[in-house]
Amino acid sequence: MAKIGFIGLGKMGLPMVENLLAAGHEVKAFDLFPQNVAAAEEAGAAAADSIADAAKGVDAVISMVPEGKHVRAVYEGDEGVFANADPETLLIDSSTIDVATSRVVSRQAVEAGFDMVDAPVSGGVGGAVAATLTFMVGGSEKAFERASPFLEIMGGKIIHTGGPGNGQAAKICNNMLLAISMIGTSEAFALGRRLGLDDQTLFDVSSVSSGANWSLTTYCPVPGPVPTSPANNDYKAGFAADMMLKDLRLAQAAAADSDIETPLGELSEALYSRLAEKGGGGLDFSAVFKMLDGSL
Ligand code: NAD
Repeated sequence: MAKIGFIGLGKMGLPMVENLLAAGHEVKAFDLFPQNVAAAEEAGAAAADSIADAAKGVDAVISMVPEGKHVRAVYEGDEGVFANADPETLLIDSSTIDVATSRVVSRQAVEAGFDMVDAPVSGGVGGAVAATLTFMVGGSEKAFERASPFLEIMGGKIIHTGGPGNGQAAKICNNMLLAISMIGTSEAFALGRRLGLDDQTLFDVSSVSSGANWSLTTYCPVPGPVPTSPANNDYKAGFAADMMLKDLRLAQAAAADSDIETPLGELSEALYSRLAEKGGGGLDFSAVFKMLDGSL
């Protein structure tokens, strides 16, 4: 069984630690908030008192922190992972961050002799608890092969998406597409209602027609047609609109860096910003329907 340093014990990190412990691994856990470290200790992890402490004497380091600046703080500098881990240690960053920062950090890892993958996830807190996360993994073939056994404990699908940063790239491209399809689906229902179409009738038509898509058939933004969708539960998240907004901002940053226009991605970011301004950021991202329908 392996020794793992785990850094970032928030909503996602803690259940991921619990799954690693349940599989018999030893975990040294660190977070800036002592109460999060205490929760990991209660679950059976050893408490680390710093990033350096979590990174020393372990087979792998896994990080799950909010943004690119936090990832840099974890890996860089005298107190960071690069300066304190043995170069044999495998490095896995599962945070969702911007592609550019992910590639900068990965390059530093390779230069210092480490195998590193960026391995952002989809599946949310429920997926983290149930160990059904999808991992999108960027990095060398060797790093991917070393990381897979750990990722398989915490996830259901592990997909190698290419070189460093490509895990982040896959995540933001997918989520931009998801936002666009959710907004399109919501617009269709809002317009359909105004034209006198019953929600269920539009669903019955579109779900077997060319408008069919995941946001309609699995995650329908109006209550009724898909009983398990958050619309039936007052749009309780699910995948929060604020998290979608974060990913859309990352997609726009990547589009600007890559000199490509993504007009619907840009518009999606503006619409989710408006949803957040209206106080809907904590709702499920399908609540964009409520805004378009005029009830938020
Ligand atoms: P969170 O805010 O609940 O937890 C992040 C933790 O990182 C916090 O406890 C914070 O104290 C810790 N942290 C920050 N900087 C640190 C540092 N330098 N050293 C040690 N700890 C540090 O966030 P979360 O919901 O667990 O999300 C983590 C990542 O996963 C984010 O990048 C997020 O976008 C991504 N993600 C989240 C979800 C979700 O549903 N929550 C879904 C998919 C992906």
